[in-house]
Amino acid sequence: MDKDQKKRLKAEFKRNEQEALKSSIPMEIDELKDLLSFLDREDVPPCDHTHKETIGFLKSRNLIPETIVPWLQEHGGYCDCEVIFNVYNDVGDIVGWHLEEDE
Ligand SMILES: [Zn+2]
Repeated sequence: MDKDQKKRLKAEFKRNEQEALKSSIPMEIDELKDLLSFLDREDVPPCDHTHKETIGFLKSRNLIPETIVPWLQEHGGYCDCEVIFNVYNDVGDIVGWHLEEDE
């Protein structure tokens, strides 16, 4: 296998992975993006190692925490601050939301 071929396969693998991840998200991409922005807002209270903020957000959007929180946990989001760091790591590219950006 030559280098280009390897590169192509790698890119394809990544694309498939992202597609699978994308289709597993139990909410709209925009809502997920809003959730991340909400958890990263300036006046967010310190994380008390629960999903208090996440659940508050989901309820305000009429989303069902029972289906979404387990998905967040699958991606390392065991509390509000971990949703920002771990879930963001997985889905940052998909939602097109980056921590470095001021939004
Ligand atoms: Zn936390």
